[in-house]
Amino acid sequence: MSAELLARRDRVLGAGAPLFYTTPLHLVRGEGVYLYDPDGRRYVDMYNNVPCVGHANPAVVEAMARQQGTLNVHSRYLHEGILEFAERLVGLHGPNVESVVVSCSGTEAIEVALRMARVATGRQGIVCTNATYHGNSEAVGKLTRLAVGQNASPEVRSFPFPETYRPIVEGASEAELCDAYLARLEEAIRSLQASPEGFAGLILCSILANEGLPDIPSGFMARAAEMARAAGGVVIADEVQAGYCRTGTWWGYTVTGYTPDIVVTGKPMGNGLPLAATAASKALVDGFRARTRYFNTFASSPLQAAVGLAVIDYIEREKLADSVAAVGAHLEAGLDARAPAYGFIGDVRGCGLFLGVEIVHDDGARTPDPERAVAIVDALKDRGFLTSNAGAFRNVLKFRPPLVFRQEHADAFLAAFDDVLAAQA
Ligand code: PMP
Repeated sequence: MSAELLARRDRVLGAGAPLFYTTPLHLVRGEGVYLYDPDGRRYVDMYNNVPCVGHANPAVVEAMARQQGTLNVHSRYLHEGILEFAERLVGLHGPNVESVVVSCSGTEAIEVALRMARVATGRQGIVCTNATYHGNSEAVGKLTRLAVGQNASPEVRSFPFPETYRPIVEGASEAELCDAYLARLEEAIRSLQASPEGFAGLILCSILANEGLPDIPSGFMARAAEMARAAGGVVIADEVQAGYCRTGTWWGYTVTGYTPDIVVTGKPMGNGLPLAATAASKALVDGFRARTRYFNTFASSPLQAAVGLAVIDYIEREKLADSVAAVGAHLEAGLDARAPAYGFIGDVRGCGLFLGVEIVHDDGARTPDPERAVAIVDALKDRGFLTSNAGAFRNVLKFRPPLVFRQEHADAFLAAFDDVLAAQA
């Protein structure tokens, strides 16, 4: 069955369309945190942040069906739904976020943010980290894992992402390390300022998710934002992964301690319905609208609004921010408790229900071990727990379940994790 599906997939989707796991998984149904294969085997989803309020959430399904059965049109008509949704969304931020441009994917929303920063400043240059991913379009893809100093496109510069586990300076205090990373950021900004492109803005995932969720030297994000603004740039927070209570609070920027000018959200917003947004001050959004006349066929529709509202309602009604904080702390404590017994666990880190475990060679040099990470991910899948490996070296076990993941799921996982770790030792 799987072999036949794989052959069909190669034929109609083209060879090379990515798949998870050494033996790919065939899924037919989902409910809450659970996913099921054709034989009825149940897996606990510990990876997917899109179905944030759970697979097949009845409140979302009902909102979607009701709206699709009533009216769904593009955004060039008056409709209260999108206004209510936009008001609720901007109300979740501080007073500097007033207006929103809605789109259908993280990539689109990031692209809107880049254009907004460029319109506002009249300059083109963007600074990002050297191991990031913000999307797959030609413009946004220019930011993907751009080695420092590799100026593949004149309008982008990268700097080494800040971290304490494999720091750019060994033996430095956290404050010295923070200064060292800020100096590298400053270099990137200066390089753009000295070029015809100029400096338009700094873009950061608020928790550096694709970089591998590192512990960031304390104070870095606030000082980086300050530096970018002092240089005349706009600060863009990519909250596509960090946002929507993933960290136990609505926004990752609250956890890492800075205030962005533009906030981009995506993945969890529609619980699977394509929905993304770029939120900012009214002045930034007005400037963007005036210059671009932006229109996006499927965006800002009554359907997106109804589903987006149902998701926010559910998160608030079920107090998922609090439960994420509590269950995440419980899961992290369980991982922390196991780490010292295994030389190949280099680090446990993260926040809320977004945790990472560094798998390294037991050589005292923190050498990444992506092969062992893959073996652990495969073994967990065989025991009914779906995770993946990520980060700059693909050696970080990534735990990022739907927000409705509860303590009993965490405990069941930790028991399975014990078996997998023991088999690896
Ligand atoms: N930003 C971040 C931090 C992401 O992780 C991703 C997707 N993995 C994107 C943006 C792009 O989102 P999308 O795939 O919806 O275009």
